Amino acid sequence: MNTSAEKSLSVLIKEKAHDLGFDLCGIAPSKILKEHEPIIKKWCSSGMNGDMNYLGQNLEKRINPGLLVPGAKSVIVTGLNYFTGKKQGGNGIPVISRYAYGVNYHDVIKVKLNMILEYIKLISPEAEGKSFVDSAPIIEKAWARESGLGWPGRHSILINNKIGSFFFLGVIILNIDLDYDEPFSEDHCGTCRLCIDSCPTGAINENRTIDVRRCIAYLTIESKATIPKDLVPKMENRVFGCDKCQDVCPWNSNAKPHKNPEFELPEEIRQITAEEWHNLTREQFNTLFKRSAIERRTYERFMQNVTIVTKFSS
Ligand code: SF4
Ligand code: SF4
Repeated sequence: MNTSAEKSLSVLIKEKAHDLGFDLCGIAPSKILKEHEPIIKKWCSSGMNGDMNYLGQNLEKRINPGLLVPGAKSVIVTGLNYFTGKKQGGNGIPVISRYAYGVNYHDVIKVKLNMILEYIKLISPEAEGKSFVDSAPIIEKAWARESGLGWPGRHSILINNKIGSFFFLGVIILNIDLDYDEPFSEDHCGTCRLCIDSCPTGAINENRTIDVRRCIAYLTIESKATIPKDLVPKMENRVFGCDKCQDVCPWNSNAKPHKNPEFELPEEIRQITAEEWHNLTREQFNTLFKRSAIERRTYERFMQNVTIVTKFSS
């Protein structure tokens, strides 16, 4: 039974998250996500994690928040919308995924999560915790479901029934009890298979996992290997990430634009012509993407994507 103090702190945390611009905030009791261990092991042993070997490592930590924050009691999950209707690309211009249009989301969200953490400590000085944005072995999607934010679609991305799936997840693990949301137990995909049928490279498995070796997002951002020749013609000019499975999802048909100007594509990038993309210098790359998630790819690897993908894409 949660106390009234825990309830009112939970309300204040959600209000604070809302004030900081988060679109979603849910809270789950910390626990060991035992059921995810065999799924991750099977996925990794089948090789579908590509060269992201780290996903199969630290499994104990990955499923147990108590190994990241001693005495973990609560997991707060936030969602921050990054949807924009303004698309980039066309006329042979290399296509970038929406999530990388603006400032690196890690930086934006980490600051906001730390502000929530500080706020909690002001009210409850005994609270200790850590905030995470893709920065530790955490199964964010599982915690988002546990905290009531939504369900994983067939494309394996979390969907919220009010804002769709174009949002970033952030996590705070805390050592104090709070008032908890119900896990989201429903599945609103129904008989829909649009994402599976629309994926240009056939990367989506029937069991809601992705074969990253075929996924454009992985191939253009994470992979250290050269993009397989047979997949290049199917990539439709995508050089950094891919939104196709989310674009076709009916749950995104009414997605509202985000309210964060930092996530917009700067005009100087929108105006780059196809020819200019091909002749981008290292200095221009460093200047244009100084604060962007695109910096995760080196200049050489990014330009390799531009050259290979736009030359042979259909
Ligand atoms: S991101 Fe693109 S390539 Fe990857 S699963 Fe979705 S549609 Fe397929
Ligand atoms: S496109 Fe259809 S199957 Fe895929 S995630 Fe959306 S609702 Fe689910």
